Amino acid sequence: MTITPFRSCDVAVIGCGPVGALAANLLGRQGLSVVVLDKAPDHYPLPRAVHLDHEMMRLFQSAGVIDRVLPDMVATDGHLHVGADHGVIRYMGTIGRPRPFGWSNDYFFYQPELEAHLRAAFAASGNISLATGADCFHLESDADGVAVHYRHADGDAGVRARWVIAADGARSDVRRQLGIALDDLGFEEPWLVVDAEVDGPVNFPPLTGVPAGADLQRLSVMMCDPCRPATVVPGRRRHRRWEFMLLPGEDDAVMMHPAQVSALLDPWLQGVPHRIVRAATYRFHGLIARQWQHGRVFLAGDAAHQTPPFFGQGMCHGMRDVANLAWKLAGVVHGGADEAILSTYQVEREPHVRGVIGAAIAAGRYICELDPARAAARDAAIRGEAAARAGETAADLIPAIGDGIVMAGSAGSGERFIQPVLQDGRLLDDLVGQGWRLFVGSQTSHPAILASALPDDGAVSAWLAARDAEAVLVRPDHYVFGTGRPADLLAARDAMIGRKRELAA
Ligand SMILES: Cc1cc2nc3c(=O)[nH]c(=O)nc-3n(C[C@H](O)[C@H](O)[C@H](O)COP(=O)(O)OP(=O)(O)OC[C@H]3O[C@@H](n4cnc5c(N)ncnc54)[C@H](O)[C@@H]3O)c2cc1C
Repeated sequence: MTITPFRSCDVAVIGCGPVGALAANLLGRQGLSVVVLDKAPDHYPLPRAVHLDHEMMRLFQSAGVIDRVLPDMVATDGHLHVGADHGVIRYMGTIGRPRPFGWSNDYFFYQPELEAHLRAAFAASGNISLATGADCFHLESDADGVAVHYRHADGDAGVRARWVIAADGARSDVRRQLGIALDDLGFEEPWLVVDAEVDGPVNFPPLTGVPAGADLQRLSVMMCDPCRPATVVPGRRRHRRWEFMLLPGEDDAVMMHPAQVSALLDPWLQGVPHRIVRAATYRFHGLIARQWQHGRVFLAGDAAHQTPPFFGQGMCHGMRDVANLAWKLAGVVHGGADEAILSTYQVEREPHVRGVIGAAIAAGRYICELDPARAAARDAAIRGEAAARAGETAADLIPAIGDGIVMAGSAGSGERFIQPVLQDGRLLDDLVGQGWRLFVGSQTSHPAILASALPDDGAVSAWLAARDAEAVLVRPDHYVFGTGRPADLLAARDAMIGRKRELAA
């Protein structure tokens, strides 16, 4: 066995799934040196996630990878839930809805392609190195950093990092090594996931109550049918996803058998040429790690939490995690921020994740109802809430940040800040850049962006006016720090991040 000398870096990222790969790109873009370690020889070849929302698109912009990923993204029209009687019970449609964040609310994509694009961007960064076939088996922390020991084909090696992001997936070795327990939110249902390449539109049974203009071929359709709850999702290009709930007593191996899979797909694909790419069973559950930070080690992505995929948010949660960490780590390395800000990671992220996983579990409980009488009662109850739910989109599920580095109590604090499309077709972030941004309604002595001077058809001015705010300070991850007087906002921000040197506003 050979022992190669330790390399040093600012951040070691363990696991190069979508979450670790985005973490590396965000950190590398901000000038941090990053070593990414993954035990597999290449990215996972099959899709798991198929949906992401506008916030991920904005993060891809921040990470400088948007041009790589955009051609493989398909904007979609939202989600439709269909009841036991095949009538619509809930519609989270996005057709004709405003797009305040610059992107469509929802996109479908092919996970292996996205992961390949994120990895391909490492070389362009110059700050990121990736070691594949590197199985991390031991972490040793001291006051200044962490030694990450890994095993690879040439023997054992190591990396020394100031911090570690463990994005090593649902079965996280790091989480186990650190003895961090998972909080089980009490939802566990077995589902069969089938991916296929399909040449033509999918057949749907006759459905009633489909909103005018809604195209079933462009929606994620949840059939809440007690005979067999199922989801039908349009992927990018010819890719289609089905998810079928396993009924009590059904055996995983039997259900994955090609003849059984064909029988399940038959009503949807009769007469439609197709090729089944894979079929696998999963347990959909809700789990959240009790501790997300252990000294200099941070859990992120599936290592920190897992959700039933009913709103397609599992990977999105992980991407929000690393966006939250990336600006704070960069602030400590380059911005003179106090390292104590890193302890706001779990404070900010956990309530967010709990809120959305709670909504997915609540939907899962009604989707997975197998009793016909209770399913009929459910349908009536959800239809009864139609007026209150009118106009809802899946994007509305994401809560504001309530605690952490936000000026709680000021209007709009903790919300995601808008990203208007500018008159020349660019997006706001492309014009004003990343990092902390102070938008003001009228001139100030502080370095700031004058809202009235933006070619955004008055969108930022209108945002300020709607909150009766003189100024808004936006964090590098695009969440609103707070609104108020510019001097007060900057002073509050500096006090919270324990700034030691000047940070650009
Ligand atoms: C059926 C299904 C549908 C889903 N649909 C959606 C959806 O539509 N939208 C959405 O947002 N999410 C969805 N998800 C969730 C999403 O797939 C996951 O949240 C996401 O893949 C997790 O990414 P990750 O990077 O945290 O972990 P992973 O993708 O699991 O990556 C972990 C990486 O860590 C590596 N690793 C593990 N151990 C070690 C070690 N010891 N040393 C080095 N490397 C290691 C692994 O090789 C792997 O590459 C879905 C999940 C399923 C199962």
